Amino acid sequence: MKDKKCCICLEEFQEQDSKFCDGCKKILHMDCIVNSGQARCPFCRKEVDIPDQYKEKIEEKRRELREYIESNNPDPLESLTKEELVNLILSIRNTNTRLRSANNNMRLANNHIRLANNYIRLANSLRFN
Ligand SMILES: [Zn+2]
Ligand SMILES: [Zn+2]
Repeated sequence: MKDKKCCICLEEFQEQDSKFCDGCKKILHMDCIVNSGQARCPFCRKEVDIPDQYKEKIEEKRRELREYIESNNPDPLESLTKEELVNLILSIRNTNTRLRSANNNMRLANNHIRLANNYIRLANSLRFN
């Protein structure tokens, strides 16, 4: 598990519980799944098995979110039901997660391109000197 990073927060795994997604093969912190408020992989949306001690935490997150929505009464979204709002906010959060991960992949790809360019430069210099 060392050196592996959680695909949600991009932090390395320490001692925390983690979860392997059967759908997209990503490894995620249990706590990061809990924070998303859904027993689903935020990347491929496949349901993941949640150990009992985390199920209550997920419910708590959803309750928190619902209370937040109720206490802040967001006017422009008045026509939506509370449940629709919860799902909207969760999907926005999940989109953010995916964007963060895409950015990370882009950074990785750029590093590989830079590395390849260095090799090309090296190969050229060896040929001409
Ligand atoms: Zn994480
Ligand atoms: Zn997945």
